[in-house]
Amino acid sequence: MDKLRTVRGVNDLLPEVLDKHNQVIETALKISNQYCYSQIETPIFEFSEIFKKPLGISSDIVTKENYIFKDRSNDELMLRPEGTSGVVRAFLNAGLIQDVPKRFSYYGPMFRYERPQKGRLRQFKQFGVECIGLSNPMADVEVISLGKDFLLKLGLLNSTKLKINSLGDSESRLNYRKFLIEYLNDYKTELSNDSINRLSQNPLRILDSKNESDRKIIFNAPNILDYLNQESKDKFQIVTEGLDVLGIKYDIDKNLVRGLDYYCHTAFEFITDELGAQGTVLAGGRYDGLSKMLGGPDTPGVGWAAGIERLSLLVPSHFNNNPDVVLLGVSDEFNFSLLSFMEPLINADLKVEILYTGSMSKKFKRANKINASFAIILGEEEVKMKILKLKNLITGTEEPVNIREAVNVIKTFLNK
Ligand code: ATP
Ligand code: MG
Repeated sequence: MDKLRTVRGVNDLLPEVLDKHNQVIETALKISNQYCYSQIETPIFEFSEIFKKPLGISSDIVTKENYIFKDRSNDELMLRPEGTSGVVRAFLNAGLIQDVPKRFSYYGPMFRYERPQKGRLRQFKQFGVECIGLSNPMADVEVISLGKDFLLKLGLLNSTKLKINSLGDSESRLNYRKFLIEYLNDYKTELSNDSINRLSQNPLRILDSKNESDRKIIFNAPNILDYLNQESKDKFQIVTEGLDVLGIKYDIDKNLVRGLDYYCHTAFEFITDELGAQGTVLAGGRYDGLSKMLGGPDTPGVGWAAGIERLSLLVPSHFNNNPDVVLLGVSDEFNFSLLSFMEPLINADLKVEILYTGSMSKKFKRANKINASFAIILGEEEVKMKILKLKNLITGTEEPVNIREAVNVIKTFLNK
């Protein structure tokens, strides 16, 4: 049995679970489509540079969590850890820069070598949206509003909280960085090893630390919002005003940063406390520098990605693959005749399953187990008279009918 196991953090999706994933994705596609975001799909693996450059060579995703491998042409490839870099690369490749703004949605598997736990996997799915080509902070409000509507449609808005922050432009961040390093240097002996390493490379990431003693120190760290230049302040002001106008509730969290290098200005997360430490269900922000990092022209962008597994843990299951009707013969010799009754039932949009083997009582037991509503029974007499025995398995009534009548009775009873 051991040989059949899957890789740690990489799971099979059995029908009941996959059905929930699909439900979440369908809801996301529908609302994104209404916001005029068009679906795009990019490759699951790319040249590793596509991720390394924008995500930052010091980011966890690139240093510790990557799935990098060489193919037979000795090209260094990477399984995608996130969607935004690929979407912006595709946008640039397709020459869409002349046609901005462009609004995209995507979903699919992402890969990160993380410590697997509930809501944290090595292969997981994200649904995301990207609004490319608008530096206007109204676009930030738009994507947050889209995220809010998505959670609303899933029935999860009341169990999530929106947190937002601004990381400002690069001038503001550089300015803030100095003061943050100065403050953190005083606590150098108390910081976790990870944070000490980040102090010189990417001190803003320390604000994101989950380590207890780090968190205490961070609590009193200088507030990035106090260090924003006027332009960055104005932009953030428009975002919060926009959310106010839309009646979208939020908390400003001065320590909310995104783990990747390409983020600037608005950062936001929808968080639930129903999933323990893995509470972030939808996260995003502005990435004006990303296009340039990929070698393209300066092109602003803003978007978010949501974790499908985490959302699926929160929504109720509506999985149902019960047949409307099962077909069964009194013996095996009727199996071919049963097949010929499939077509009219399928054409009538009914769900049909044939029970091929076993005694009559076994077949009825099976019909019960799979929650079939009706059974169509074929025997010598029925075939000879070109008639069917239709049994309503819910009420127990039985009647002789032809196939057209059977369709009508079933559809009427099931309200289909
Ligand atoms: P976290 O802080 O939980 O590690 P993150 O900041 O790494 O999240 P993003 O890169 O912003 O997450 O990804 C967006 C969303 O994708 C997350 O909010 C989460 O719902 C989901 N996600 C991220 N990593 C994983 C994972 N390893 N397994 C399952 N879902 C994930
Ligand atoms: Mg992470």
